[in-house]
Amino acid sequence: MEKVVNCEVITPEGLVYSGEVNMVVVPGEVGEIGILPLHAPLVALLTVGVLRVKIGDKWEYVAVHGGYVEVKEDKVIVLADAAEIASKIDVERARAAKERAEKMMKEAREGEENFFEAQDDLKRALTRLRVAGRAG
Ligand code: ATP
Repeated sequence: MEKVVNCEVITPEGLVYSGEVNMVVVPGEVGEIGILPLHAPLVALLTVGVLRVKIGDKWEYVAVHGGYVEVKEDKVIVLADAAEIASKIDVERARAAKERAEKMMKEAREGEENFFEAQDDLKRALTRLRVAGRAG
């Protein structure tokens, strides 16, 4: 049987994803990190972005919003501030968040604190929309 890694995505609200997968790709702070079975132990910071897992020849997508990943003995644990699997994403809510953030960015001056805040809000909303677009 093909070797697998056990992947868990955990947030303060609970377990968002758990599965035996062939590969995990996480959005690391300095770029994507691909994790295959027998990967060396690792701890890395994550950015807001798309986590994907490969099962056979199929990919599944999870929006993750910050946090970190730990890899140990074919177990990948992602601890994130928030995370959503594609089918749980409320597209209308993400669209509304995107519009609010874009408006706030237009109204704020570049370099102001609320500009950066809006930039972060926009990144989360766009990540959710990207993941939701791949749902089903
Ligand atoms: P909003 O402005 O719509 O609340 P947000 O980016 O401020 O979005 P977060 O603070 O990142 O939201 O998340 C708060 C909680 O709501 C988390 O549990 C997160 O998983 C969930 N959440 C946020 N947006 C969505 C969405 N579009 N679909 C499903 N769950 C969402």
